[in-house]
Amino acid sequence: MPHWVYLVAAAVAWEAGKPLVIEEVEVAPPQKNEIRLKILFTALCHTDVYFWEAKGQTPLFPRIFGHEAGGVVESVGEGVTDLQPGDHVLPVFTGECKECPHCKSEESNMCDLLRINTDRGVMINDEKSRFSVNGKPIYHFLGTSTFSEYTVVHVGCVAKINSAAPLEKVCVLSCGISTGLGATINVAKPKKGQSIAVFGLGAVGLGAVTGARIAGASRIIGVDMNPSRLEEARKFGCTEFVNPKDHKKPVQQVIAEMTNGGVDRSVECTGSVQAMISAFECVHDGWGVAVLVGVPNKDDEFKTHPINFLTERTLKGTFFGNFKPRSDIPNVVEKYMKNELDLQLEKFITHSVPFSEINKAFDYMLKGEGLRCIIRMEG
Ligand code: NAD
Ligand code: ZN
Repeated sequence: MPHWVYLVAAAVAWEAGKPLVIEEVEVAPPQKNEIRLKILFTALCHTDVYFWEAKGQTPLFPRIFGHEAGGVVESVGEGVTDLQPGDHVLPVFTGECKECPHCKSEESNMCDLLRINTDRGVMINDEKSRFSVNGKPIYHFLGTSTFSEYTVVHVGCVAKINSAAPLEKVCVLSCGISTGLGATINVAKPKKGQSIAVFGLGAVGLGAVTGARIAGASRIIGVDMNPSRLEEARKFGCTEFVNPKDHKKPVQQVIAEMTNGGVDRSVECTGSVQAMISAFECVHDGWGVAVLVGVPNKDDEFKTHPINFLTERTLKGTFFGNFKPRSDIPNVVEKYMKNELDLQLEKFITHSVPFSEINKAFDYMLKGEGLRCIIRMEG
């Protein structure tokens, strides 16, 4: 059983919206059912930015953000039997205990024990943090906190993957791309030849576009307010584009007119409640299905007329694209390696910076430049 404390470099967010500071952080050993990971590559997802900005979200500082990553198990705590030092893993923000009714259900990935909790900043085992600076505890984020050379996570929050998989690429499967891909193929489930609208063309939305292409959707309509994203989306398979700013009418009406009454499916990947409403209202009556993926503000309310449901439209939502992290993600990685999924992860990776320049990744995302920025922990 490991009992030594590590002193490592970690990017600490001391205050909302202020640049992260690389500090020497003490990382405690893993406790019962926990593992300590050496992070090799991590990427920035918009969910990190929302909680770092803390506008419309519960502020919790100081905190170590980061949840999209790939790493190697350094040591395991008591009771951990299915992982050992050296295993390659992807940490995941929503876990799988494998024992609760959700984990046993084929339909759910909302584990009772380890489901996403954005307001918790401590480990569930003892409600304490494993990080500290000069004795002052630093909060965790999403149970992963990957902006650190080493981190401690619950064993149910990692997917063990093939050690031959290139971690510098497959790390993006630990959140954004899997979320978008799963939102389409597992939740929206377009049939071959159907039409789909994807709101928000960041990495999550383009993961959803990729899913639509794999499912054989005929028309893939990308919706974004950033014109550079619309151009980029063509490379991922978008066939048509709508920029809501180019129209006086509500975007749902524009889409309904383009598609003779509405799209068969829609997936929202923006976090804007207005886009969520549009994504629901643009699906065809009688059979249309809309799926919400974006993380809303704490006080957002979704408002639509009930007649939109009576006329047989369906609204769904999902975390992590309905994938069970431990059971499903190793297979997604396998399929990527065998080229069975036309995933082309390199297209999502538009930037790469050493850990010392992590704040650049925030700048890129705030400016809407590129898709995913990989942060290399070893320079
Ligand atoms: P991103 O910032 O790279 O992309 C979001 C895109 O949405 C941007 O291109 C932006 O221009 C566009 N957008 C914003 N408001 C819009 C509007 N009203 N209409 C049309 N387009 C609009 O972010 P990302 O990393 O791809 O994440 C997308 C969303 O998914 C975020 O809300 C993130 O928090 C969320 N997310 C959810 C899950 C989940 O499991 N449900 C997982 C990961 C990320
Ligand atoms: Zn994410």
